[in-house]
Amino acid sequence: MMMQDIITIDGPSGGGKSTISRLIAAKLGFTYLDTGAMYRAVGYKAQKLGIDLSNGQALAKMLDSINLNLIPNEGDTKVILDKEDISLAIRTAEMGLIASKVSAQPEVRAKLTEMQRRIGEKGGVVAEGRDTGTIVFPSAKYKFFLDAKPEERARRRTLQLREKGQQANELEILAQIIKRDQDDIGRSLAPLQPAANAIIVDTSKMSIEDVVRFMLEKVEKSRKNSDNNPQKAE
Ligand code: C5P
Repeated sequence: MMMQDIITIDGPSGGGKSTISRLIAAKLGFTYLDTGAMYRAVGYKAQKLGIDLSNGQALAKMLDSINLNLIPNEGDTKVILDKEDISLAIRTAEMGLIASKVSAQPEVRAKLTEMQRRIGEKGGVVAEGRDTGTIVFPSAKYKFFLDAKPEERARRRTLQLREKGQQANELEILAQIIKRDQDDIGRSLAPLQPAANAIIVDTSKMSIEDVVRFMLEKVEKSRKNSDNNPQKAE
């Protein structure tokens, strides 16, 4: 199978994935695909309509007519659901937990995976999430798994929220991070885990710039190797 010109970046919440994915996409001129935003949007709509978050069939029905658009934006991805801009509304900790709930439903995963593959068809994509290297794009050329200690992730998430002018309690955020990790790792369907051929990066003691530099070096090196050995790249 031809390897797709796709970079996957998976890992638990608060590991710096979105900032790093956005920077790498900008640097390479790739499209940034924020798969978490898609699960958040589904959770948002389900909650708004009062649909039971554990009812896969009801969620599937809702998804049949969903109109979801991800528009690359300078700072963030703009998320438009049925003509409504929900970019800010989906970024709360509560929406993270709701997204995690709906994401455990097979019907939801099937539909979103299909949408994500369609976006990735032409290549030139940096896909970020939990299962992009394992399930969505198993033949991606470059795979990374970003991890960091839960305390460090809670610290970063707290800073991020405060910078946006939102209130944030670090201990509460730590508890939510641990809960969401447990749910994401423990589910039977597409659990959070590194792909066998992913490069695992512990970002606990690295700056964003360090991580981006490290990852770009890996990508460049691998690109050079495949230029020299075209058959091996396939
Ligand atoms: O990355 P983000 O925090 O926006 O993701 C929200 C939730 O969506 C995650 O906790 C996870 O449960 C779910 N998700 C997923 N698969 C992905 C991306 C996100 O299950 N590829």
